[in-house]
Amino acid sequence: MKKIFFALLLISASLSFANIKVVASTTVIYDLVKEIGKDKVSVDFIARGDQDPHFVEVLPSYMVKLRNADIFFRIGMGLEMWSNQLIDGSRNSHLKTIDLATDIDKKEVPNFKPDASYGDVHPFGNPHYWLDPQNAKIMAKEIYEALSAESNQDEAYFKKNLDDFNYRIDKKINEWTNKMSSLKGKSFIFFHASWIYFADRFGIKTAGFVEPKPGIAPSPSHNAELVGIIKSKGIKTILMENFYSDSAPNQLSQLTGIKVVKVPTAVFGMKNINSYIEMMDNIINQIIQNS
Ligand SMILES: [Zn+2]
Repeated sequence: MKKIFFALLLISASLSFANIKVVASTTVIYDLVKEIGKDKVSVDFIARGDQDPHFVEVLPSYMVKLRNADIFFRIGMGLEMWSNQLIDGSRNSHLKTIDLATDIDKKEVPNFKPDASYGDVHPFGNPHYWLDPQNAKIMAKEIYEALSAESNQDEAYFKKNLDDFNYRIDKKINEWTNKMSSLKGKSFIFFHASWIYFADRFGIKTAGFVEPKPGIAPSPSHNAELVGIIKSKGIKTILMENFYSDSAPNQLSQLTGIKVVKVPTAVFGMKNINSYIEMMDNIINQIIQNS
């Protein structure tokens, strides 16, 4: 009897807290939801930080995560091709799915209707907008709006957290912009086309990609082309997402002396990368040290 009483007490205590259940498709979104929601939100994520977010295996355990969630945030623009299957499989009729791309100034959006022969993984434009920290602010605002709509009484709390986040990231954006100004106009080779938003923000140039097309594996003929570009333009650095195989970049390095720099492109993507700001710090410090 006593046990039942305590169990009921615990249940009623937990019900008295507004607790929005959120699932994030990626760890960057997970971190931003924590920034805005703090202890009013419980949040989980699907794609690990050291995993290619384009290719995530559809597991029953991910459907279970979504089964009891109120909101599912994702990057959108087709990054998470795998997510619709999870949403269907969750059989959660009250789940709200929110694409954080809505207010983003999207790049590389094709002006033709994508079809299967197009063959790459960016059929709706380039979805890697989170690597521009100004876009992280847009994502945070979108999250703030969604959480406030879900729990009106916590709107002021979420707003304060949003303001705190914006204050901190604005200071970091100034610091990052100052640091990166020494590299303005410099050309880089990137592995995947994850870097266009980042490059535009900080004024660096893209000389080529290790992938012949986004999502298409490196090939000897494409590598040979890159050797020519690296030599003729004197390019010093390949920047690559740390979850890809480094065998093609290492070949380029052996042939030209170019440096291969591996960076995290998500939170928890490397040891000690536990927030968006730590991730950007790591990327920018590594580029500066190696170019
Ligand atoms: Zn991509």
